[in-house]
Amino acid sequence: MFVGHYAAAIALKGKEQRANLGLLFIAVQFVDILFFPLVVAGIEKMRLVPGFTAVNSFDLYYMPFTHSLLGSVAWAALFFLLFSALGKGQPRGRAVAWAMALAVLSHWFTDLLVHTPDLPLLGDNSVKLGFGLWHNAAVTFGLEAVLVAAALFYYLHRTTATTRVGKYGMLLFVLFMLVINYLNMFVLPQSEDVVELTISALVIYFLLAGIAFYLDKKRA
Ligand SMILES: [Zn+2]
Repeated sequence: MFVGHYAAAIALKGKEQRANLGLLFIAVQFVDILFFPLVVAGIEKMRLVPGFTAVNSFDLYYMPFTHSLLGSVAWAALFFLLFSALGKGQPRGRAVAWAMALAVLSHWFTDLLVHTPDLPLLGDNSVKLGFGLWHNAAVTFGLEAVLVAAALFYYLHRTTATTRVGKYGMLLFVLFMLVINYLNMFVLPQSEDVVELTISALVIYFLLAGIAFYLDKKRA
């Protein structure tokens, strides 16, 4: 899953408005931000098998540190501790830390909907889950669009624009992300090179987080 992860970030921002949307964007993709470099380093493993699913060619056969439920809980706990420390003495510091931790954890549960059974429960490969919606590209695209639209609706309802950019920016941003998702899924050829995939994934994750960080300042 790609754009659908941002539904969690946008919804959590609607719920806990002192959290920073740019950081929430990083948090919901945190395990993927680790995953790609770990694959390049040979610590986690994936194979590119053309036609593996309708959406991509990812055979993700070994990712215990980033994509196990246990690992995800551990990363979420780390975020909670980090943001609790950073938010000490700040109003709603604890609530922001919870939002950041939930953002990290949400990645596993949204991945669960679309991945083939490649998400380990524990650090080993004994039990792996995934409902496999990636086998249907239209359903995957539709699900991500519905999730992110619902989150946007909730966020717009819970916050107020302070500038004109704030009024239309988030809507345009979400549409922009859906266009990227569409191109990625149906139009552009997928890279068959892991390093190239890693670089493009990291660039897009940080670019989107940067835009979210900017737009966040335009609503209150
Ligand atoms: Zn993932």
